[in-house]
Amino acid sequence: MRYAILGTGIVGRTVAERLLSLGHDVVIGTRDPATTLSRTEPAATGAPAAPYAEWQARHPEVELLPFADAARTGEVLVNATGGRVSVDALNAADAGHLDGKVLIDIANPLDFSQGWPPVLDPANTDSLGELIQRTFPQLRVVKTLNTMTAAVMVDPTRVAGDHNVFLSGDDEDAKKTVRELLYSFGWPEASVLDLGGIQTARGPEMLLPIWLQLMGKLGHVDFNFHIQGAQPKA
Ligand code: NAP
Repeated sequence: MRYAILGTGIVGRTVAERLLSLGHDVVIGTRDPATTLSRTEPAATGAPAAPYAEWQARHPEVELLPFADAARTGEVLVNATGGRVSVDALNAADAGHLDGKVLIDIANPLDFSQGWPPVLDPANTDSLGELIQRTFPQLRVVKTLNTMTAAVMVDPTRVAGDHNVFLSGDDEDAKKTVRELLYSFGWPEASVLDLGGIQTARGPEMLLPIWLQLMGKLGHVDFNFHIQGAQPKA
């Protein structure tokens, strides 16, 4: 499978490395490849990440393309852009390149403009997952993996014991595709909780405030949510 990851940050790179290790083809989308490659400062958010060019030098098989070219060549798309700019990134990816494709949406709509802690926008009566699905009805959006740190997304064994990953989306076939990918990342079948349609993305996105509080309290990011009693009652 050929994956186009939209986003050059820690999430995009971490998912790219895992997909490569599983034998997939990967391209990464950015606003302007030359600008991204010329950056010398570490990535802005998440775990400290080397400048993109250093990562690229270690992964010469991964092509860095403008969002539109990446979206055109990808069979499955991954949204690993900042949640407040995801619609801009997808607009740049060009509607004509999105038709019928699965978009795995990992982004969180965190607004840091008022400082720490960030606030969610949209939230409560809307979500980024819904906003993307509404704005790009030609995409089949599946929200998942946004409730944990990047390294845990692709290697759930980093967290001891049982823990969960959520799935939200309107298209059952798209969710099946994403489920299979999660299994290949090492998520046990029972750990994948399908919450329902894309409207259910509100819940996992609104877990971010407690996730951020836990990060501060615990002093690390290798933790995740575990829902006891998650199996439906017979
Ligand atoms: P990030 O710094 O949040 O986002 C980086 C990407 O956003 C870059 O590709 C950048 O484009 C793009 N971007 C920034 N401004 C833009 C604009 N105005 N228009 C279009 N694109 C723009 O990266 P991240 O830390 O890897 O996080 C990615 C997403 O995953 C976020 O939504 C985050 O909330 C979510 N998430 C992160 C983690 C984690 O462990 N960090 C965990 C769960 C969920 P350029 O390449 O052109 O610079």
